[in-house]
Amino acid sequence: MSEIVTTQLPVMESFYTIQGEGYHQGRAAYFIRLGGCDVGCVWCDVKDSWDAAKHPLHDIGTIVAGAAQYPGRIAIITGGEPLMHDCTPLTGALHEAGFQTHIETSGAHPVSGKWDWICLSPKKFKAPLPEILPLANELKVVIYNKTDFQWAEKFAAEVSPNCKLFLQPEWSKSGQVTPLIIDYIKDNPQWEFSLQLHKYIHVP
Ligand code: SF4
Repeated sequence: MSEIVTTQLPVMESFYTIQGEGYHQGRAAYFIRLGGCDVGCVWCDVKDSWDAAKHPLHDIGTIVAGAAQYPGRIAIITGGEPLMHDCTPLTGALHEAGFQTHIETSGAHPVSGKWDWICLSPKKFKAPLPEILPLANELKVVIYNKTDFQWAEKFAAEVSPNCKLFLQPEWSKSGQVTPLIIDYIKDNPQWEFSLQLHKYIHVP
């Protein structure tokens, strides 16, 4: 009899909603927020995610069954920093169940799992590993102050030519930085605006 391997991951929350950010903005998706992050962004709006031990371990099968209750077939793995975990079993099970697998990551840990869409959102507090840059389908840079544009360009120069480029205002600084982003995109049209739509339509 073959051995049954049970793989578990710490899940902070999971929910079916509308993707609010980036290239897939507006599409129905099931979010799986894994616990654990060591990046330490000062403006992080999910600080409760940082300590993985605070979040219950869920079997992969239970996680996928939760997603499969809904008709959408995009599963977005977020965090926390999801690449602190081996995502291979989870993405394998999601693919078997017919999902497209998306990840939102800072890239600060080695890539694991098979991904249909990698959204790389590099953070100043812990740099992404160079290996993820050519794999990113989308580069989403959060703009907190005007020096961040130059920092964003550093990564834009290292991603693949097909990678979509997004600038997103940091929520608490949105009033100050949104006009700067608009001007920057008008001058540098390879970039697009990412709005955090979910915060305007009041969905998670
Ligand atoms: Fe928060 Fe994400 Fe930064 Fe981690 S990488 S501290 S979860 S914003």
